[in-house]
Amino acid sequence: MKFKRVLLKLSGEVLAGPQGFGLDFRAIDRMCRQIAQVAADGIQIGLVVGGGNFFRGRQAVDEGVERSQADYMGMLGTVINALALQDVLERKNDIPTRVLTAIEMRQVAEPYIRRRALRHIEKGRVVIFAAGTGSPYFSTDTTAALRAAEIGAECLVKATKVDGIYDKDPFKYSDAVKFEKLSYMSALQRRIEVMDAASFSLCMENGIPIAVLNVLEEGSLRAFLIEGKNIGTIVS
Ligand code: UDP
Repeated sequence: MKFKRVLLKLSGEVLAGPQGFGLDFRAIDRMCRQIAQVAADGIQIGLVVGGGNFFRGRQAVDEGVERSQADYMGMLGTVINALALQDVLERKNDIPTRVLTAIEMRQVAEPYIRRRALRHIEKGRVVIFAAGTGSPYFSTDTTAALRAAEIGAECLVKATKVDGIYDKDPFKYSDAVKFEKLSYMSALQRRIEVMDAASFSLCMENGIPIAVLNVLEEGSLRAFLIEGKNIGTIVS
């Protein structure tokens, strides 16, 4: 086993399925099966979930919504995603799961307390970090880098719909070339869009490698985390 503890970042789009909005429970089922496979093999998992399938703060600003207000709306979207993932992980896959939210809402989830998160993780529970950092002007990618550092994750796995980082958009250019490895600095200099600059910097400062994987491919998490296969792109 390559890693003992990882932080998995799931964007809202991964949960939305082909329609790109809301929740597609077939997509969530597939995602949770993959998570359950690696959790059952003993990998400790912290999960940061995005909210772009419901609301992105910056886009709402273009419609005239005030930025902080828009960002709080975005963070609430991540909580809906977290609850959906918890339900499917626990009831369909038998994986004990806790949602910890950075914005307090005690009726639905525990408040985020780092030491409590660590305890859950050590007991083999999947911990879902909801509501981002709890502060506007941040992203859930930055949250992922932050929580990865806080829980001592050995790797941040960024789950996407593309099988790694390319030198140009592989959907637009047929001659796009995939990187197997990339340094943090070149990811920053090339303005790689897979994660924002703040999250690359935070990972760089704390020496946390980032693996960009296509999670739509069944078994890709297992292949990377358990079998140690060189799939995706590693930024380190
Ligand atoms: N957000 C925020 N602070 C955070 C994390 C998220 O304000 O710490 C807001 C922000 O408006 C963002 C939205 O929540 O657009 C949803 O998160 P994100 O866009 O990162 O989701 P993803 O693209 O990963 O689905």
